[in-house]
Amino acid sequence: MREALKREFDGFAEDIIDLFAASNEHFAVQHIYALPAGHCWAHRPGLTLLGDAAHVMSPFGGDSVNNAMLDAAELARLLIEREHWAEAVIEFEPLMFARVAESAHGAAEAAATFLSHDGEALTLDMYRMHSTAPLESAG
Ligand SMILES: Cc1cc2nc3c(=O)[nH]c(=O)nc-3n(C[C@H](O)[C@H](O)[C@H](O)COP(=O)(O)OP(=O)(O)OC[C@H]3O[C@@H](n4cnc5c(N)ncnc54)[C@H](O)[C@@H]3O)c2cc1C
Repeated sequence: MREALKREFDGFAEDIIDLFAASNEHFAVQHIYALPAGHCWAHRPGLTLLGDAAHVMSPFGGDSVNNAMLDAAELARLLIEREHWAEAVIEFEPLMFARVAESAHGAAEAAATFLSHDGEALTLDMYRMHSTAPLESAG
């Protein structure tokens, strides 16, 4: 596997190639799981999901843990503010579905880009597009 990786990355910077030499002999295939972007469910009294359990997505978008923490904070706020916990959960779920949809679409698109057979060219195109896009106003 190490030799195959060295061949695949032939011509890359030495610092990258050195990582293969420094690795141990353990080789593991890790699956990447994702729910469909826009996944949601009809409310069921007495039960809810949040974080990855509700909206696991590929790690390429890089904001899943932020979504998970915001889910927890939003649900906690609603549980404190609403008179009955059941009302809080009913209000929380659609807010979460709407909020994570953009991240889920972004993560799905990024996974399709990075894992594509044409990933290198697509990734370069994406970075070029970002580097030429006008900066958004911070306000
Ligand atoms: C390779 C990789 C890179 C990532 N990179 C980023 C990144 O750059 N930025 C980012 O924002 N996010 C990233 N993420 C995603 C981030 O790690 C998750 O979104 C986040 O950890 C979700 O938190 P969670 O609490 O919902 O779930 P988890 O962190 O999965 O927590 C669930 C917990 O429940 C426990 N558990 C499961 N079953 C049971 C059971 N039956 N009984 C008791 N306990 C149980 C598990 O052991 C675990 O500790 C990455 C994920 C991966 C895999």
